[in-house]
Amino acid sequence: MATHLPKEKKPTEGRKHQHMQNDTKASQGQWGRAWEVDWFSLASIIFLLIFAPLIVYYFIMSCAQYQCSLADPLLDLLTGNKHLSDIWNSTPTLTYRAAAIYALWVTFQVVLYLFIPDFCHKFLPGYMGGVQEGAVTPAGVVNKYEINGLQAWIITHVLWFANAYCFHFFSPTIIFDNWIPLLWCANILGYAVSTFAMIKGYFFPTNAKDCKFTGNFFYDYMMGIEFNPRIGKWFDFKLFFNGRPGIVAWTLINLSFAAKQQELYGQVTNSMILVNVLQGIYVLDFFWNEAWYLKTIDICHDHFGWYLGWGDCVWLPYLYTLQGLYLVYHPVQLYTAHAVGTLMLGLLGYYIFRMTNHQKDLFRRTSGNCRIWGKKPEYIECSYTSVDGSKYYSKLMTSGFWGWARHFNYTGDLMGSLAYCLACGFKHVLPYFYIVYMTILLTHRCLRDEHRCSSKYGKDWKRYTAAVPYRLLPGIF
Ligand code: NDP
Repeated sequence: MATHLPKEKKPTEGRKHQHMQNDTKASQGQWGRAWEVDWFSLASIIFLLIFAPLIVYYFIMSCAQYQCSLADPLLDLLTGNKHLSDIWNSTPTLTYRAAAIYALWVTFQVVLYLFIPDFCHKFLPGYMGGVQEGAVTPAGVVNKYEINGLQAWIITHVLWFANAYCFHFFSPTIIFDNWIPLLWCANILGYAVSTFAMIKGYFFPTNAKDCKFTGNFFYDYMMGIEFNPRIGKWFDFKLFFNGRPGIVAWTLINLSFAAKQQELYGQVTNSMILVNVLQGIYVLDFFWNEAWYLKTIDICHDHFGWYLGWGDCVWLPYLYTLQGLYLVYHPVQLYTAHAVGTLMLGLLGYYIFRMTNHQKDLFRRTSGNCRIWGKKPEYIECSYTSVDGSKYYSKLMTSGFWGWARHFNYTGDLMGSLAYCLACGFKHVLPYFYIVYMTILLTHRCLRDEHRCSSKYGKDWKRYTAAVPYRLLPGIF
């Protein structure tokens, strides 16, 4: 994507060294999002706006009507065996029950998010919860966030298990049983919140200076106008929709799929347990590190539009949980060696993902005054200039996992993603969608981030890429 680079100015000499990653003005040109929309960006955006909802529908419908075969619906349509209307007419519609469940679910998450200040940080050593600061926004604002996602996750899951084992108010298969009607509800919320965010950006933005108008309706709708839309002091759209209801729901959805296996087959397969455990670790990691996530690209670079709003409401809960859904239709029992191998790959991937992220976090927090693998970290001193000519200094680490490849955290993430897919055996391609999607997402993210870093650090970035020549796989890419 094209970035609108700031015009170069002579750096201010003698300015005090300071590490300021997200300088107010520089960021407007450097934060990886196009200000001028080229035809390729526009075509991609229109393609996604049209096809992303269809892709989600196609996957979920394939499971419900074709036992998760991705080819059979197409074959049926191409051979005239079925018409689109037949498939559509067999699709469950929106129901009052699903609407009530969904409304209750979202309201409950809003209540947990807004009205219960974090107590986990008071007794969990090492956990950073409560009021935390985000990164500096392009307008120079530092937002405060109430980090209480871990608490929301724990309360939600305690209640889920209490209901499943004690109260029996509803069946734990409730999510699976209403999966398609709930899809319509998730879409309604996804489109409503994205449309609201766009209107809000025009008429009552939280911070007008943090708005980005490209002049292209589709681009603005998809990639967002406001940087950090909020209602009131604390209801932050990005933090809420990024983590809840989507990611809190992720583990509940998997539990519901496991309960459905139990109901249908009288047992839960080892593959289903593997998927629940590995994805559970990933979700817990997200909430344990929610404060750290305030500094990742999603939160501190992207604006809030359909990409995040609809993506968090629909794409994430429906496509990130395809493995569990598949296993309801195909209860795979893995050989022990396969299960153990998959578990090892998943855990190794998670370890690499977490440790790589941790190393950078520690390195940046301590400005390099720390130990990585028992040694002082190696790094490249680099500088960048903001549009007003001020010069800033930063450091890029070249040791630890960051010396192996420039995005080894993505590599770990991809290994974990592959493990979820391998847990489903080799009979169908549907569960492998996740690794294909994550590879595209993270490779694109890698290129997008490097484009941004290269324009930010210039020749210093070249020195860094010479010191660490590979992106994801040492010796290969
Ligand atoms: P990173 O955490 O890798 O952050 C990239 C930034 O780190 C760069 O822009 C640069 O910022 C800084 N940086 C780059 N190289 C170095 C270095 N050698 N030393 C110090 N700082 C460096 O990217 P993300 O925010 O994209 O990812 C965070 C995690 O979230 C990843 O592990 C990823 O796998 C995961 N993720 C998961 C997704 C999912 O859907 N499951 C989606 C997206 C991400 P600066 O300008 O400050 O120098």
